[in-house]
Amino acid sequence: NVRVRIAPSPTGEPHVGTAYIALFNYLFARKHNGTFILRIEDTDATRSTPEFETKVLDALKWCGLEWAEGPDIGGPYGPYRQSDRKDLYQPYAQELLDKGHAFRCFCTPERLEQMRNAQRAEGKQPKYDGLCLNLKAEEVTARMAAGEPSVVRMKIPAEGSCDFHDGVYGDVSIPWDSVDMQVLIKADGMPTYHMANVIDDHLMKITHVARGEEWLASVPKHILLYRYFGWDEPTFMHLSLMRNADKSKLSKRKNPTSISYYSALGYAPEALMNFLGLFFIQIAEGEELMTMAELSEKFDPDNLSKSGAIFDIQKLDWLNGRWLREKFSEEEFAARVLAWAMENDRLKEGLKLSQSRITKLGELPDLAGFLLKSDLGLTPDAFAKVKSTPEEILEIFNTVQPELERIFEWNVESIEAELRAIADRMGKKLKVVLAPLFVAVSGSSRSLPLFDSMAILGRSVVRQRLKVAAQ
Ligand code: ATP
Ligand code: GLU
Repeated sequence: NVRVRIAPSPTGEPHVGTAYIALFNYLFARKHNGTFILRIEDTDATRSTPEFETKVLDALKWCGLEWAEGPDIGGPYGPYRQSDRKDLYQPYAQELLDKGHAFRCFCTPERLEQMRNAQRAEGKQPKYDGLCLNLKAEEVTARMAAGEPSVVRMKIPAEGSCDFHDGVYGDVSIPWDSVDMQVLIKADGMPTYHMANVIDDHLMKITHVARGEEWLASVPKHILLYRYFGWDEPTFMHLSLMRNADKSKLSKRKNPTSISYYSALGYAPEALMNFLGLFFIQIAEGEELMTMAELSEKFDPDNLSKSGAIFDIQKLDWLNGRWLREKFSEEEFAARVLAWAMENDRLKEGLKLSQSRITKLGELPDLAGFLLKSDLGLTPDAFAKVKSTPEEILEIFNTVQPELERIFEWNVESIEAELRAIADRMGKKLKVVLAPLFVAVSGSSRSLPLFDSMAILGRSVVRQRLKVAAQ
């Protein structure tokens, strides 16, 4: 019985890459009459938040990728959130320690940093040097009893290589001396990704692990853990990452990467899935428009490309247009438009802000239309009314863009606080900083209040508008 999973870490805005990997797994399950499950990997407590978890679940639901087991619905192998499984990993770590497959390491962060710097200075890839590998049992007990913090690391074979088969890459061989003695349990008792991932895939009876190619180099650690525990390993498939047109890894600086950007702009989830699904099948020209059922029928996991999936937004636009025009009935289309306008209370909030500024309802499209537009069509003279010089405007954009990324929770208060702080740091009056932002975000210099508008539009749309305006 085929069981596959998507295992997102709730550490940021849900990424189209997550939808792409989830879709592969979902189609794989459908193809084999298997089960697709969702597991939340939140072992990195400093970066994971419940808000991002909710967003990931909502984004994947919006995509139409339904899971049969997950943190929201439970299932026979729960809990499906790693932070709720914390205590379960300890005995496995103990088992590895007892069998001599792992060891306690007392090295301080400062020592590790020095060690890594020295290795880098010699042009070597940083790797744990094994200082604590052969500590005597009595010493370990004594240092632990004294309350010295420690982590658990896995032992790695001294020579030879890890040879395995990957469903996409074929036969792979990775020398053991390039593999680090991975930390399995951190000083605070939390497992690392590698430890929790392997244990959970085993306990959740996962048969096939399909994930991004950035994990290929981690397979030796995972395989070694399966062997240490005496468990069968799943079949691995490492999917090529999506790339920008220039072949670099898809990044939000070049392409919007957040799923919410696509839903905010009025892409149909069916079209996004259609677009992503075409990376996994071979079809002739003219057959591109496909439903999920058609995708799963044509889905061909044995014929995947290693060369990388180019995220061609024009192709997505073309497919989305075809979905809207050809696939939806009049009623369905109207229902979609209404649901989209209501999304995240966008329309309601926009109207609230408009009421105090309006004389006739007919002014609404000019006043609040920017909240719904996919493209503001800015022309160079859009900034004519802004008093700063073009160089100063550019400096403002270039300063604001990276700073906005640091906002943790995107809301009116946090946006206002951040922009005030930026103006202070730049030694400029707040209104001087806000004036060009106003135009970039709303397309005109007379419109709704900026902080509220930015909050309603959402981080990914604002990011894209600032990028366009700075070009
Ligand atoms: P960015 O560089 O844009 O900040 P990132 O690498 O930080 O992106 P993460 O938040 O680390 O993105 O990734 C979230 C999920 O999306 C991960 O599961 C990752 O495998 C997947 N992912 C990220 N980038 C890509 C990509 N280019 N193609 C496919 N999947 C990706
Ligand atoms: N939590 C990991 C991620 O978000 C999962 C990787 C895996 O599928 O093993 O990328």
